[in-house]
Amino acid sequence: MAAKSRAPFPAMHYLRRTVQMGIVVAAAVTGYRFASGLSLTSVEKYCPMGGMATSGSLATQQRFSCATGEFNFALMVALLVLAILARKSFCSWLCPVGTLSELLGSVVGRLKGRTRQVKSGTSLALVVPPRQLDRWLRLLRYPVLFVILYATFRSGELLFRPFCPYYVMFSFHGHNVELWSYALLSIFALGVLIIPLLWCRYLCPLGGALWPFSRVSLLRVRRHAEACTDCGLCDRACGQSIPVATAADVTSGECTLCLECTQVCPAPGALSLAVPASNRRWPRVAVPAVVALLVVGGLWGGSIYAIPSFSQEFANADSAVELRSVRLQVQGVKCVDTAKLAATVFEGMGGIVSFVAYASRNEVVIDFDASQTTVEAIVKTMNGPVYIKSSGEFIFHIYQVLQIDGKPVAKKLVTN
Ligand code: SF4
Ligand code: SF4
Repeated sequence: MAAKSRAPFPAMHYLRRTVQMGIVVAAAVTGYRFASGLSLTSVEKYCPMGGMATSGSLATQQRFSCATGEFNFALMVALLVLAILARKSFCSWLCPVGTLSELLGSVVGRLKGRTRQVKSGTSLALVVPPRQLDRWLRLLRYPVLFVILYATFRSGELLFRPFCPYYVMFSFHGHNVELWSYALLSIFALGVLIIPLLWCRYLCPLGGALWPFSRVSLLRVRRHAEACTDCGLCDRACGQSIPVATAADVTSGECTLCLECTQVCPAPGALSLAVPASNRRWPRVAVPAVVALLVVGGLWGGSIYAIPSFSQEFANADSAVELRSVRLQVQGVKCVDTAKLAATVFEGMGGIVSFVAYASRNEVVIDFDASQTTVEAIVKTMNGPVYIKSSGEFIFHIYQVLQIDGKPVAKKLVTN
């Protein structure tokens, strides 16, 4: 029998939407600024999946793959900790792909809700696959994850870019994005109108990787049977099709702690936030608080260490008598390949001892023999033409030094 009492004002829903939309806007602004040459920071810098993809080369070669760097890896570690504490809350509070999938699906969900009473399933999209099929389809995420990790490790490149909805949407036609990438994105968009959170449920490699951590997570939604009226509204609200109305504790590894079930529940005290082996009801704001803490921790973690993307020693190393070092911020040094190419401009130049690139920070550190060369000569060489061995041509304006030891020397950026 349906409960008569009214659901409270959905404060947590609006808080979550505000956070989600803030992230979407931040990703769009970051992507646009990078694509327009206004900034060196790409949307890839903050993607935890990049951290996962680069783990192989970090473990075996102690360097990052392609354009990944310290932030990707630190945010990935923070994400795993977050999953252990607050399930897959990343998916429902932070991930822009999850946000847009939810918004698209909810349009259809609302139309559906207006035309007929939906007794089970979800308020997002049209069709909820049967539970058993849903479970099998979720396994598709693991081959996707394996292929990405293996391909990135073998090639050193982020081959997943043209397939990734996040990158295709927010890179503003970034590197490797092809016309078919948009076609694929459109298919995913159509898919989330039909099946709730299609990408997140069945294809997202990050969602698959988080599942084991989320399965043993601390925070969970708890149903108090004595207060529950069996109205089933929580089941309908759950975008992951978790049967909340018949659960005691929601321990599913798919729960994203979106808290929508707690929002729609009209029975006071029937659903709460809890931890195992304790009767204490935790305030729901604990979820966004843990999310915020881990985001700040991840960003801080990414800023306190540095691991090179590429390094090269030059033959002058043994002869260095007056060793000096200069740190340059260089537009154009943005991945392992562009760092390798940048190092070639110093081949044959007297006095260069070593070249170390931190691609995700667009930085290079050059050790040089001050008795043979100067910072000015190094900067001039870096800004100069680059000889491409494979084509036998010189290419101009590939690199531009923007800062020398943290001091700006060029203001206007050219398009990346
Ligand atoms: S069980 Fe509740 S908190 Fe978990 S995903 Fe479903 S609606 Fe969100
Ligand atoms: S827990 Fe679910 S089934 Fe029970 S009263 Fe709340 S919304 Fe209805």
